[in-house]
Amino acid sequence: MRTPFVVGNWKLHKTIAESLALVTELKNQLAAVAAGKRVEVGVAPPFTALWPVARRLDDASVMVCGQDCFWEERGAWTGEIAPSMLVDVGCRWVIIGHSERRQHFGETDAGVGKKVKAALAAGLGAIACVGETDAERDAGSTTAVVDRHLEGALAHVTAADAARFVVAYEPVWAIGTGRTATPAQAQEVHAHIRKRLGEKLGAEAAAAIRIQYGGSVKANNAVALMGQADIDGALVGGASLEAADFIAIVRAARGNS
Ligand code: PEP
Repeated sequence: MRTPFVVGNWKLHKTIAESLALVTELKNQLAAVAAGKRVEVGVAPPFTALWPVARRLDDASVMVCGQDCFWEERGAWTGEIAPSMLVDVGCRWVIIGHSERRQHFGETDAGVGKKVKAALAAGLGAIACVGETDAERDAGSTTAVVDRHLEGALAHVTAADAARFVVAYEPVWAIGTGRTATPAQAQEVHAHIRKRLGEKLGAEAAAAIRIQYGGSVKANNAVALMGQADIDGALVGGASLEAADFIAIVRAARGNS
């Protein structure tokens, strides 16, 4: 019942010209792959490329996403971007609480909750990232960390938001490292996340919310990961920077490569 959702997080990569070249290729090649709505696809370019990318994708099914947003709508917040500004340039979704923002920019669980609330209020869908570090996994605290991240992200979410709220489980030790959680390891955490979603939002919402996996997803591991019962797509970093790699992952998520 859940439509898989694959999003490419471009991070700090690509000029406007490079962004347009990539989305033009994606648009042309994904028209057939994504037809029939058996998979949803998004790209999250850097802020500077959002407007031209959104214009180029005007007539395409690929959705444009922000990589972050702030929780206030306006005011003296130098450097920040409001959720409604993302809507204004054509974004439909925004990634919130990515581990790189938690690690390098002081993102807190409470801040993630406020950003999710502001994004949903502005009409955006929110992709909230959760996941443990290597040391936390070794210490046996994976579920405790995921629970804490989830609690922050869900602070202001209700069952009515289920269609516009996505959780991305991204073990930090797998991001950009080439190490991927095994399908069984990922599925175990995804099932746990769905159980927690049920406790907080009810069974119906928990069954509807998509849970993406992220962490070195590539064409060669995507089929096995996407085959797991509670994995509903992927948040893809490195492999989203080349059209062929990203399209192979979209095909895997769609179910018949
Ligand atoms: C990410 O940054 O969200 C990510 C999953 O990166 P990568 O695919 O490169 O591990």
